[in-house]
Amino acid sequence: MREYFIQHVGKVLDSETLRKVAGTSEWGRRVRELRNEEGMNIVTHNDRSELKPGQYLLVNLKPLHAFERGISKEVRAFVLDRNGFTCQMCGAAAGEPHPYDAGRKTRLHIGHIIDKTMGGIDEPGNLRAICSVCNEGASNLTLNRPQSIKLLAQVRRAPTSDQLDVLKWIIEKFPKQAKGLIEQLKN
Ligand SMILES: [Zn+2]
Repeated sequence: MREYFIQHVGKVLDSETLRKVAGTSEWGRRVRELRNEEGMNIVTHNDRSELKPGQYLLVNLKPLHAFERGISKEVRAFVLDRNGFTCQMCGAAAGEPHPYDAGRKTRLHIGHIIDKTMGGIDEPGNLRAICSVCNEGASNLTLNRPQSIKLLAQVRRAPTSDQLDVLKWIIEKFPKQAKGLIEQLKN
């Protein structure tokens, strides 16, 4: 399976083909292993809006999140929880459409604050949640970000007590609109 992906780097592969290559119904798990444990840059429709469900693409041969290897599930869960399941660079929330690419669901990785090559360690204090868009450096390419996205990112990263202060201030300023939105959310 690894070899097949490497031979077809940059080409879209479908689930039917991968099932045949793997020769097992467990091929889906194998793809996840290649991505999560071996750090292969395999993307799906969750990552790229141009891909359909059941399509897979090995983007390039550069290991994507090799830094996640060696970080235990517990540390990973701890860091994600501490960061409120929100990218610490752009504020995108896990599972939600990405603010810079609405066709893409936000997937979070664990990144180093001080890079390993600069002596950074695998301790929670040096780790943070980072989305695949920021991880690929793509969000840096977006020059004119709407101000509201920046602002929302800050609010998302803020402690709950600060978020509640913001909520209170907004409701006081826009009582009618707040009521209307709450009604909408009920439906
Ligand atoms: Zn991000």
